[in-house]
Amino acid sequence: MKDSVVIIGAGVSGLYAATLLEKAGVDYVILEARDRTGGRVLSGQQLSTPPVGIHVDMGATWFWPDIQPELAQLIEQLHIPVISQARPGDMLYERRSNSTPERYPAYETSPASFRLEGGMQSLTAALVNKIPLHKVKTGHQVIAISDTGKEIQVLTRSESRDNSPFSCKHVFLALPSALAAKIAFRPMLPETVLSNWRRIPTWMARHAKYAAVYKKDFLHTQHLSGDASSQIGPMVEIHDVSEPKSHKTAIFGFIGMPAKSRWNVSESVLKRLCREQLVRLFGQDAAEPEAEYLKDWAADPFTATEFDLLQETGYTVPEQLPARGEWSGKLTGIASEWSVPFSGYLAGAMDSSSKGVQRWLKQESFSEIGLPPLRTPDMF
Ligand SMILES: Cc1cc2nc3c(=O)[nH]c(=O)nc-3n(C[C@H](O)[C@H](O)[C@H](O)COP(=O)(O)OP(=O)(O)OC[C@H]3O[C@@H](n4cnc5c(N)ncnc54)[C@H](O)[C@@H]3O)c2cc1C
Repeated sequence: MKDSVVIIGAGVSGLYAATLLEKAGVDYVILEARDRTGGRVLSGQQLSTPPVGIHVDMGATWFWPDIQPELAQLIEQLHIPVISQARPGDMLYERRSNSTPERYPAYETSPASFRLEGGMQSLTAALVNKIPLHKVKTGHQVIAISDTGKEIQVLTRSESRDNSPFSCKHVFLALPSALAAKIAFRPMLPETVLSNWRRIPTWMARHAKYAAVYKKDFLHTQHLSGDASSQIGPMVEIHDVSEPKSHKTAIFGFIGMPAKSRWNVSESVLKRLCREQLVRLFGQDAAEPEAEYLKDWAADPFTATEFDLLQETGYTVPEQLPARGEWSGKLTGIASEWSVPFSGYLAGAMDSSSKGVQRWLKQESFSEIGLPPLRTPDMF
C-alpha cells in the first residue's frame, strides 16, 4: 500500500471510491458520521424491526439503465438481480376527498426505470463487501480539516476515546457540498467556494417518504399497478415497490407537505394519515400493514441543511477548488452533486467518484486500474 487518503462519507460515492482505491493499492480510510453506511440509500428495515423479509427503499430507489450504462454495468458485475418498475394494471388519481379515486390505464415511463432485488442497499452492501471492514469507520463525524504543510489532518467527533486526527495526503469529500461547507478548514477555503457549496441544494434532501408492507399481494387481484397521485395527500406520488417473488405488497409514497408543516404533526399521526390514504386508494386490504416506515430526510443533519428547507431542489453542480491556491490538489468533491451529467443521482455518485479518483491517481502517477475512460460532461 502506498500513499494515504481520507474519504469523508460512506454513501455510494465514498464506497465506490474506496473500491477503486483498493484496486489501485492506495491506503485509505472512510470516515462516516452515521452509525451505518449507505448515506441516502436506506432500507426501511434499517429503521425498525421486526424483519419482514422485504427491503423497501426509503432513499434512492430507481436507476435507468438506458441512460446510465456505467451504473447498470456495475450492478451487473456485482450480480445484483434487477426488477422492472413497469407493472400491469391501472393507476389511480385522487382528485377530491369526497369522491372515489379515478382509474386510468398505466403509463410506461421512458427511459424505463428499474429497482434492485433486496432494495438499493444490495448495491451498498455489495460495495462494502469489497472493502476491508477496518477501513470503514462509522460514528466518525468530520469536524475539521487542517493542512499543516507536511500533511493533512482530519479531525473527527467520535465516541471512541482516541480522537487523534487522521493524517493523509488527499481528502475525497464524498458528502454533499452544503455539508462539506460546515467542516472547519484550516487554512480557510476561499469564501467564494464556501458560499457556493453552502447554496447547492442536496438532491431530495427536503423530502420524506412513507412506506407500508402487507402480508398479501392485493394489487394484482384488483388490476392495479400501485401507482397513484393525489391532490389530497398527505402522499402526492405513490408507487408499488413489491418484490414479485415475495408475494407481499410494498407501497411507498412521497409526502407532499413541506418539511416545516409536517414537523407540526407527530410521526404517529402522519403514519395514520398515510395509512388512511392507502385505504381510500386500495381498499381495506391496505388497512393493516405488517410494517410501516417513515423517513424524513429534511430532519436528518447528515443529509439536509437549513438551506435545503428554503430551496427548490435543482441540479446545480458545486465548484471544485480553484487550480491554484492553498488547497489545490488536496481536496476533491466526489459526492453525487459534483457530477455534471447526473448531479444528485446514484449514477452521479458513481460518475463523480470515478472521475475524482482517476484524476487523483493520474496526478500521483499511479498506473491504470482499468476504469472506464473519462467522459465529457455533454452526455445529454
Ligand atoms: C428520498 C430520496 C429518493 C431518492 N431517489 C433516487 C432514485 O430513485 N434514483 C437515484 O438515482 N437517486 C435517488 N436519490 C439520490 C441518491 O440517493 C443520491 O444521489 C446518492 O445516494 C448520493 O450518494 P453520495 O454518496 O454522493 O451522498 P450521500 O449518500 O448523501 O452520502 C454522504 C455520506 O456522508 C456522511 N456525512 C455527512 N456529513 C459528514 C461528516 N461531517 N463527517 C463524516 N461523514 C459525513 C453522511 O452520513 C452520508 O453517509 C434519492 C435520494 C433521496 C433522499
